[in-house]
Amino acid sequence: MRILLVEDEARIAAFVRKGLQEERYVVDVAEDCDAALDFVAAAEYDLIILDVMLPRRDGFSVCQELRRRGRKTPVLMLTARDAVDDRVRGLDAGADDYLVKPFAFKELLARLRALTRRAPETQSLQLELGDLSLDTVTHAATRAGQAIDLSAREYRLLEYLLRHRGQPLTRTQIAEAVWGYDFDAQSNVVDVYIRYLRRKVDDPFESKLIQTVRGVGYKIEARDA
Ligand code: CA
Repeated sequence: MRILLVEDEARIAAFVRKGLQEERYVVDVAEDCDAALDFVAAAEYDLIILDVMLPRRDGFSVCQELRRRGRKTPVLMLTARDAVDDRVRGLDAGADDYLVKPFAFKELLARLRALTRRAPETQSLQLELGDLSLDTVTHAATRAGQAIDLSAREYRLLEYLLRHRGQPLTRTQIAEAVWGYDFDAQSNVVDVYIRYLRRKVDDPFESKLIQTVRGVGYKIEARDA
């Protein structure tokens, strides 16, 4: 899952980013409205966390602008004041939910999961393909009842593939979704991690799920499905 965090306070942004990364989210940080709109124009996000108090233009106007551009990405607004007016303004601007600062990180995670469930293509917390199953809350993976131990990166890669099952995905799409903007486009990191993942998810089993799509990249699909 890829999240855009729009927050100008570096300390808070760093804290939230780190916490979300530990929960296997891919996080990009935008420091103001213009940066946020640029990020959204350039990439697909599953969720946006939007601080209300931003320099120049506030979070409400970013949200309105996103909706005006037809973006339906779920938006969680962070408001510093527990003012009814702010919450109403946020929801009216097209936000899906809000959280009052300071918040418990656990609550932020729960709200993000709830928002994810609302998006039609990501409803399930449990991703399954054939005998492979991935729990997006506990991050536990099993195949044919056997536990598979995945690193954080491998987990994100497998989650991304499963959420786009059957779709051929390019290396660039995969890299952006799994590494965010931190990756070097020249590197073969996607191929390397696909190999790691195959070793764990496919090699011990007869039917292979991760498939190479010639001239494109990779996809995950149950062949006999
Ligand atoms: Ca702020």
